[in-house]
Amino acid sequence: SFLRSARSQYSTMAPVETKTYDYIVIGGGSGGSGSARRAAGWYGAKTLIVESQRSGGTCVNVGCVPKKMTWNFASINENIHAGRHYGYAIPENIGIDYAHFKNIRDATIKRLNGAYENNWNREGIDLVHGHARFVEPKTIEVSTGPDGSEKTRYTAKHILIAVGGHPIIPKNVQGAEHGITSDGFFEIEELPKKWAVVGAGYIAVELAGVLASVGVETHMFIRGDTFLRKFDPMIQQTMTERYEAVGIKVHKQHKGFKEVQLLKDGKGADKLLKLVGVDGEEHEVNEVLWAIGRAPEVENLNLEVPGIKQTHTGHVIVDDFQNTSVEGVYALGDVTGQAELTPVAIAAGRQLSSRLFGPPELKSAKLSYENIPTVVFSHPEIGTIGLTEPQARERYGDDKIKVYKTRFTNMFYDVFPVEEKKQNPTQMKIICAGPEEKVVGLHILGLGVGEMLQGFGVAIKMGATKQDFDSCVAIHPTSAEELVTMR
Ligand code: FAD
Ligand code: NDP
Repeated sequence: SFLRSARSQYSTMAPVETKTYDYIVIGGGSGGSGSARRAAGWYGAKTLIVESQRSGGTCVNVGCVPKKMTWNFASINENIHAGRHYGYAIPENIGIDYAHFKNIRDATIKRLNGAYENNWNREGIDLVHGHARFVEPKTIEVSTGPDGSEKTRYTAKHILIAVGGHPIIPKNVQGAEHGITSDGFFEIEELPKKWAVVGAGYIAVELAGVLASVGVETHMFIRGDTFLRKFDPMIQQTMTERYEAVGIKVHKQHKGFKEVQLLKDGKGADKLLKLVGVDGEEHEVNEVLWAIGRAPEVENLNLEVPGIKQTHTGHVIVDDFQNTSVEGVYALGDVTGQAELTPVAIAAGRQLSSRLFGPPELKSAKLSYENIPTVVFSHPEIGTIGLTEPQARERYGDDKIKVYKTRFTNMFYDVFPVEEKKQNPTQMKIICAGPEEKVVGLHILGLGVGEMLQGFGVAIKMGATKQDFDSCVAIHPTSAEELVTMR
């Protein structure tokens, strides 16, 4: 009935022109771009990308890229501190021009927006800037123009939904809108003096880490006793202790907030908020970041028109081949809620286009979601691939699992005072299964592990055993050598 009313609504309006493509991609982010470029660039499919905002999606504009740049910015302050221990005469108050950094970060992103569009253009992909929504099972309408009043329709045999997601703002907290999400974090021009971070996942840990590293008083409010509760217990434990050791106040078992009052509107330290907890406690801070997860960007997409099935959280349901419940309509990336990572969306997009437009031998191409390496850009970084220890014990049984662990201090910290040395552990865990000791999980934290994981990821994808790790001669002196010498 919804379908009928949507149709009749449109049938009373002036006819809208309909253009035909081989492939329509809704969303020019990581997944959409990866898929469109494979379809058009490799296989010559006549492809359209519809993008409602800035080209490149979350990763480029408000995700991986500005986040990693900010992590680099914070790491410099950590190195300045280390420099003093190494004997550099660095004055105590050197000052930080955050507005300058924000401007050059914005300029870098603007260049990337252009680079995305140049690539699409070079590969013959058409781009329309506007909001897409379904008006027929296989037809979308795009609103363009300054007020969105110009409308064009597009149809294609194959349509991809790669619309990503957005950060969640809690609905049950009065005045929650006075705080920011990760999107707003990247608009900050002046640093707060004191801020609160609510949440315990990737974004909470990464963004709390960067501002704490540049001297902002940081309070984290978490529901459990540790953050990163989906990670291996070793990572949860050590990272929570490590953040507390460097002065981040972690409020554990927190029951949540009922209200945020805007005491003073302004920027940086001039903004003042009062947070009121559900059990009455109050905190005055300059900013509050909601980092409690993300939701799929499906509003106003009219998924009911084709009848695409969704989960209770609104995520689009797909099979192993990224097919939705409607033939010829596919979905991938954050909108499906499958491993919300940029390289996952890109890889799924490429596989899908190879399957749809590639040679016959690729007709069953699909992405394997097993053993996806991932890094949290915390301080220090975390790298993880495969199963956590509890997952491995559950899957294989306790007697089939062998765990190798080590904890040491990276040589970089040898010149630090003893107490501070202790605050900078490197920790590694290799989880092996079966008599052949196949590596089924690898968890590492410490200086430089983000760069360390990729190569080990290749080995694990190839089915490496502990014996394979050990047969590789160590590189000395590095941290990584521990991974091939563990007893
Ligand atoms: P997106 O990249 O979000 O692209 C979706 C696009 O669709 C958007 O451009 C949007 O404007 C557009 N769109 C939405 N609706 C419509 C519509 N109706 N019509 C037209 N266009 C539409 N991942 C990593 O791998 N490493 C990291 O370090 C990392 N850091 C992150 C840090 C932060 C703060 C955040 C928020 C995310 C981070 N991620 C990281 C996750 C990563 O950004 C996402 O997994 C990835 O961008 C998902 O790609 P996607 O193609 O599914 O969606
Ligand atoms: P996550 O799902 O990682 O973490 C959100 C966390 O917030 C939950 O784990 C939960 O932890 C906590 N939480 C949920 N609801 C509430 C609530 N109502 N009140 C308080 N806490 C709550 O989401 P993020 O938003 O951090 O990131 C989204 C995704 O983006 C990530 O999962 C990741 O895939 C991707 N990403 C990747 C990055 C990278 O690759 N480096 C960086 C940033 C994002 P608990 O149950 O312990 O309370």
